[in-house]
Amino acid sequence: MYHIDSNGYYGEFGGTHVPETLRETIDALKSQYLDIIESREFQEEYHMLLRDYVGRPSPLYFARRMSEKYGCRLYLKREDLNHTGAHKINNAIGQILLAKRMGKKRIIAETGAGQHGVATATACALMNMPCRIYMGAVDVERQHMNVERMKMLGAEIVAAQSGGKTLQDAVNEALTEWSNHPDDTFYVIGSAVGPHPYPDMVARLQSVISKEIRQQLQEKEGRDYPDFLMACIGGGSNASGTIFHYLDDLRVKLVLGEAGGRGMNSGKTAATINIGTEGILHGSRTLVMQDADGQVVEPYSISAGLDYPGIGPLFAHLARTARATVLSIDDDEALRAAFELTRTEGIIPALESSHALALLPRCKFKPDDVVVLTVSGRGDKDLGTYLAHKDDFSEVDAPAR
Ligand SMILES: *Cc1c(COP(=O)(O)O)cnc(C)c1O
Repeated sequence: MYHIDSNGYYGEFGGTHVPETLRETIDALKSQYLDIIESREFQEEYHMLLRDYVGRPSPLYFARRMSEKYGCRLYLKREDLNHTGAHKINNAIGQILLAKRMGKKRIIAETGAGQHGVATATACALMNMPCRIYMGAVDVERQHMNVERMKMLGAEIVAAQSGGKTLQDAVNEALTEWSNHPDDTFYVIGSAVGPHPYPDMVARLQSVISKEIRQQLQEKEGRDYPDFLMACIGGGSNASGTIFHYLDDLRVKLVLGEAGGRGMNSGKTAATINIGTEGILHGSRTLVMQDADGQVVEPYSISAGLDYPGIGPLFAHLARTARATVLSIDDDEALRAAFELTRTEGIIPALESSHALALLPRCKFKPDDVVVLTVSGRGDKDLGTYLAHKDDFSEVDAPAR
């Protein structure tokens, strides 16, 4: 009921809105992706790499002190422990395995903060595929360390000089490059966004997260479903993986956090679901942050990975049908949540993941409620931001001296 239909739509959202030059390539992908992904050979190679290279299954950790604090049974799904530090590697490895099986010879990808670029460059090094990463020129300046990582991994970086020179411009340039070289090139999209079949393909490649949650809950709680699932959403890939096997299980409440920035009505926000309107962005009908003339509004969040003016079509649908509750989490709430997790459990989360953790004080739980929250990535990359704010949060749950 909440999964994709045969035309590539989630309710009224999704579809394949691409220029004629990409039709044939996308049609080929549409007709092959499910057969390849579900084949035994693909699954064997994919799961071998997830296990031995990425380090899966990621632990489902019972967070005792946080559970006491919030009056529930809180488990953290530890995607932060994956190789390269986040969930994005699950998708990058899967798409590049698919590209090889489709006979493609080179990989292109877009990246904002550089996390998807690093995951893609990593998987390309592993699988000996030439790799070109499109990145907004402003982001190339802001994300110096990730640019150097990608170069060390052997990727070529192209700085997008159009528009605001950020993520959405990088996506536009990558789509143009793909239109010019559709035959030999595979475009690895980094979130559950873009034209069909990408949102479904990415969700399936990330669905290993909810598959593991099911098994791990069965072992730890004696039942295979939680009462609440929580995640942050930028485009929606870690969230779609977290909820995939539970979409139609109405016993499970879905609570998601998007980036409110300085406040969703401040003009400095990336809270697309809360303030966006229907439109077409990057090949998909979805909710978009746009002005009255349909011009995309530049998004803002303290977290570079949530700084996107659109949203995966699945989430537009889940919000529209009220299957999921999507709350706008402001910068300062996310920062506070990061310091809280660090000092209660000894885990420094990514700023993106902190938007999921900040959902906890917004919810009412019963003591027996089982809550699973995905920590999508680790916070090493965000240390500079955390240091800049450490005095504001010096009292948050510091151990007694
Ligand atoms: C990129 C990123 C996100 C946001 O992307 P989704 O596709 O919404 O998951 C969240 N967390 C981390 C750690 C990221 O790197």
